[in-house]
Amino acid sequence: MRPPITHAEEDFEFLDEGIADGVTAQSAPPVWRVMIVDDDADVHSATVFALANVEMLHRPLEFLHAYTAAQAREILAHEQNIAVILLDVVMERQDAGLQLVRHIREMLKMTEVRIILHTGQPGYAPELDAIRDFDINDYKTKSELTRIKLFTAVTSAIRSYEQICAINAGRRGLDLIVRASTELMALRGLQNFAAGVIVQVAGLLDIKPQGLFCAQERRSSKEADLVVIAAVGGYAAFANGPVSDIGEARAADSLARTMARRQHIYGPDFITLYLSGNANRGFVAFLDTGRPLSRTDRRLLEVFRSNIIVGLDNVALVSRLHNFAFYDDLSKLPNRTRLVNIIDEMLAAGVQQDTTLSLVDIDHFAEINDALGHQFGDLLLLAVADRLQSRLGDKLIVARVGGDMFSIVGDGSQVNPATIGALFDTPFNIDGQQVQISATVGLMRLGEHAGGGADALKDANIALKRAKMQQRAGHFYFTRSMGIESRERVRLMHALRAAFEEKKLSIAYQPQIDLATRKPVGAEALLRWKTDDGKIISPDAFIPIAEYSGLIISLGEWVLRAACQELVRLRTLGFNDFMMSVNVSQVQFRHPDFLDMLRLALDDTGAPPAFVELEITESVAMQEPAVLIKTLAQIKQTGISIAIDDFGTGFSSLSYLQQLHVDRLKIDRSFVREITGSSRGSSIAEMVIQLGRNLGLSVIAEGVENERQAGKLASLGCPLAQGNLFALPMTNEQLLDWLKVR
Ligand code: C2E
Ligand code: MG
Ligand code: MG
Repeated sequence: MRPPITHAEEDFEFLDEGIADGVTAQSAPPVWRVMIVDDDADVHSATVFALANVEMLHRPLEFLHAYTAAQAREILAHEQNIAVILLDVVMERQDAGLQLVRHIREMLKMTEVRIILHTGQPGYAPELDAIRDFDINDYKTKSELTRIKLFTAVTSAIRSYEQICAINAGRRGLDLIVRASTELMALRGLQNFAAGVIVQVAGLLDIKPQGLFCAQERRSSKEADLVVIAAVGGYAAFANGPVSDIGEARAADSLARTMARRQHIYGPDFITLYLSGNANRGFVAFLDTGRPLSRTDRRLLEVFRSNIIVGLDNVALVSRLHNFAFYDDLSKLPNRTRLVNIIDEMLAAGVQQDTTLSLVDIDHFAEINDALGHQFGDLLLLAVADRLQSRLGDKLIVARVGGDMFSIVGDGSQVNPATIGALFDTPFNIDGQQVQISATVGLMRLGEHAGGGADALKDANIALKRAKMQQRAGHFYFTRSMGIESRERVRLMHALRAAFEEKKLSIAYQPQIDLATRKPVGAEALLRWKTDDGKIISPDAFIPIAEYSGLIISLGEWVLRAACQELVRLRTLGFNDFMMSVNVSQVQFRHPDFLDMLRLALDDTGAPPAFVELEITESVAMQEPAVLIKTLAQIKQTGISIAIDDFGTGFSSLSYLQQLHVDRLKIDRSFVREITGSSRGSSIAEMVIQLGRNLGLSVIAEGVENERQAGKLASLGCPLAQGNLFALPMTNEQLLDWLKVR
């Protein structure tokens, strides 16, 4: 039969209170140990006789005997839990007793034991200082020690010993609690925390960690099961199961009762604790204590309980924060930070050569979001997340690393452009609507990667950007040279910005001539960047960077204004038929303020629009026809004319070209080179010239380097030309000198 138990939160009553309560020395028998140190054997027998068979504070006494101070030292070296020492002052030497006291307090650091000094000779009474310094409890002459007086003295010594022990135990316990709580806080996740609680409580009570930590788990609206969250020691097998699985009725019953009554139970050899904070549901912990708990134990446990409740609240908070920090709120997929960790772990563990990291960017998501609203955008992202997760989730890692960017990581046989592309083959059902989208993919092979997870993502991102830049590419694999290129680009970008701010960029003007008369008709403004060490960086190298970084907006405006100013200056010097061509990047072209910028530049400089020409490349001319047609019409309204640069390299259709209302076609220099250098000969140049004639457009050939090219172009009927044969790009002053002698 199980011994009866009482539960209580405040008034803990034990049936066997008398034995259990008291000092916390677990291994000690429930007695008070009294040591008699006296060279007089009679004192020993008289004391034992006087105090035998009495109980003090519910415990009998047990005696230890020493007849010399030396013998006492020996005993004290290995005996513990001595409550009182009755000590003779004069033994081997006059001060043997006092020396022993010093030894006990200072050497053995026994601060709890109470010491009652006694001496036969009143003259040998110790100084008051010594009594105070050595914490001597009492001083009696032997003649004073009647049975009653001895009883009173020892009783009061034992009482104060008990109190000192309790205070010290409490202090040690608090220390332990603070340490235990700190250690617990470091544990993440309820399971770890729960196991930690059992281990720490066991540490506090100085028992073997053996127990269960349970929570109520709701199965349905009515039924709730008590489930084991953590199990330690002999209970380990019951982890994660229902409490009913535990065969032992003692544990299962008391856990259920504790949960039901929301009160601790202190059993004869176990405890169940009820733990509940503000934010958390109730938890119960069962511990095998193997003994009943003392009042001090229970007080400590109470303090500990209030500490870990804060911890339990924190566990909930920490896991919520953890989720915030590592998971995307919308899709619940791992976020970028988490993905970096995952890749770090994968790399550390070693990956297969073809393990691939991909970044999947939804095409035109921003437009969809703008057009159909953010709610629709969110639903679409969720649908994509759902498809990726449901089709790949068990084998591959799927994460959401940015707004419309997902990542899939895993074996190259599954993470490749074909399989990823196939995920977008069928439309997504959003709110009953079928939405067909595509994605651009950047990939990198983790097996070839030297850095960490964050670098791997950067590399994949470089590949993704490359894939986006190349029209119709759809995907790109990262290569090492791309990385170098990309780092070099970043360096160049900073240098370019600085050069622009420090006004170290200049404009070169390359004349354009009438092929028949070789007279100048105008010039093209070309950006020049001469670095501090005298190196000339080609605009082909830095214009894309300026475009990429957005610097092209202010840079382009500066070129336009400078070229217009130069045009005005040349006109004041008498060159009135002179035309100024300025290159315009597609990024500038699409900027919403482009037209205003253009008008303002004309107004401010006073340049006549009829003598200003903008060169746009054919690739620009191909994009978004409706927008382009409108913008070009607006530009033309200002009076400025438009040339299509590098013509023939793109794919503009004839009908489209007609709609654009451009004024001039510039034959790309690669076709001019072909005239003399390739078997295809002049066919393309010839075609462009004819096209211009048919459409009523002006045509100019660029990159003319020799007379053979010039002659051929002239014979084909090309009216205008530009190239090193006639003049290299030059400074404005050189241009003026050049013009003067034509
Ligand atoms: P582009 O507009 O096609 O400019 C013509 C390029 O051909 C210039 O190169 C010019 O120096 C070069 N060139 C002229 N004659 C010859 C020749 O006989 N042989 C050879 N091999 N090349 C010749 P550059 O100055 O290096 O400019 C390259 C490109 O940079 C330009 O091509 C243009 O697309 C862009 N660019 C230059 N300045 C600007 C600018 O201010 N804004 C923008 N957006 N782009 C610019
Ligand atoms: Mg040009
Ligand atoms: Mg060109």
